[in-house]
Amino acid sequence: MSSPIIYDVAIIGGGAAGMMAAGTVAESGANIVLIEKNDRLGKKLLITGKGRCNVTNNDQDVKSFCDKFGSSGKFLYSSLYQFGVNDVINFFSKYGVKCKIERGNRVFPESDKAQDILNALIVFLRETSVNILLKSAVKSIKLEKNSIFKLLIEDGREIVSRRIIICTGGKSYPTTGSNGDGYKWIQDFGHSLVPLKPVLVSVKTKEKFVKDLQGLSLKNVKISIIQNDRKIDDRFGELLFTSQGLSGPIVLDLSKRISELLISGPVKIVLDFKPALDNKSLDLRILRDFKEQANKEYKNSLSMLLPKKLIPVIIDKSGINPVKPVNSITKDERKKLLHLLKEFSLTIDEVDGFSKAIITSGGINLKEITPTSMESKIVKNLFFAGEIIDLDGPTGGYNLQLAWSTARLAANNCLKGTINEKGKD
Ligand SMILES: Cc1cc2nc3c(=O)[nH]c(=O)nc-3n(C[C@H](O)[C@H](O)[C@H](O)COP(=O)(O)OP(=O)(O)OC[C@H]3O[C@@H](n4cnc5c(N)ncnc54)[C@H](O)[C@@H]3O)c2cc1C
Repeated sequence: MSSPIIYDVAIIGGGAAGMMAAGTVAESGANIVLIEKNDRLGKKLLITGKGRCNVTNNDQDVKSFCDKFGSSGKFLYSSLYQFGVNDVINFFSKYGVKCKIERGNRVFPESDKAQDILNALIVFLRETSVNILLKSAVKSIKLEKNSIFKLLIEDGREIVSRRIIICTGGKSYPTTGSNGDGYKWIQDFGHSLVPLKPVLVSVKTKEKFVKDLQGLSLKNVKISIIQNDRKIDDRFGELLFTSQGLSGPIVLDLSKRISELLISGPVKIVLDFKPALDNKSLDLRILRDFKEQANKEYKNSLSMLLPKKLIPVIIDKSGINPVKPVNSITKDERKKLLHLLKEFSLTIDEVDGFSKAIITSGGINLKEITPTSMESKIVKNLFFAGEIIDLDGPTGGYNLQLAWSTARLAANNCLKGTINEKGKD
């Protein structure tokens, strides 16, 4: 029986990080294999940015970029300096995918197609002659006495490699293949796991009437999160009503904080539908609208102020008789309306789970990874990249940049100190 191929590097997980890592290592001529459980690569990548793939964020300052990941963000300095935002944009441009910058510095392919980003990566893998094994779920990994990693595939095959890069992602949206498999193996290797939480998730409200607003997207609103009558945080931007609550970038970005707060009690979200106007200016605006429509019924008088879907809810909550002529609305009634527009309060029941989370927070403890190489401090020749590490950023392209940058760093370091020549080590 012929002895098995011993690969120089095995990369587990064919998502954003795994594909970038595989192509990069293969550029050195090393004998590598990319192992993916699905029957195709990049399943999650295809649904990013609602199918448009917000590939990075044009936040050019490395410190400011890393700060978006919180106090541990400095872990990313080396990877960002080595392969930053412009490198990502140039990489995809080299493969024919031009990018554009949108609101909030979000970078998307000009075509608005995540498929184009995936296609570029597939060409990269082809060009660098990466061996790709699809439909190959890794079940377990053993480190043999001769410092070789033995990977057992679910169907009984074995893959042998001198080094491995684990890029199996988090455990959010498990239908894409990222169901948390990698966490088991890293714990078997002696790594500790920072507890996992679903983040960048929608929130559910106690108030069921939100269902009537489902699909309503408001571009310029302010939300504040309140607990025990104390304002904890706020955001300005885009909000979306869902069948059970709220979503959209500003809610997703606050969802981690909300889920932490929910542990100690109820949380309120207060919506300001007119953040550009203070109370006095808004009152004048309402008065002006009412004057112009003096003979209309109240229920027909708000179309200049609010989107159609929101009007019945506001009418109902204001307690003002819907058929009352606008010119007989009292000052107190107008005050009630104004209060609703500036401080529309909803109570948060819970946040959605892993099945609908954009990102998993928690993961491999950063203290156990060398930030300048992405190598494990516990097991030599074991590397990590992507969402599996304990870092999560806000919406806006930050999380994919993390995947590209850490993958590149791991790939560029996993062969260091060896002869990068095919067949030799
Ligand atoms: C709906 C949605 C929208 C998003 N939109 C954006 C966006 O626009 N911009 C942004 O920056 N981020 C976005 N993200 C986050 C982004 O997708 C992730 O940060 C990124 O995909 C992480 O890359 P990764 O390679 O680490 O993991 P993944 O992309 O999750 O890839 C992991 C791969 O490993 C494979 N795998 C897992 N276990 C095994 C195993 N046992 N054997 C073999 N293979 C295995 C999986 O099948 C998967 O293909 C979005 C996420 C979601 C869910």
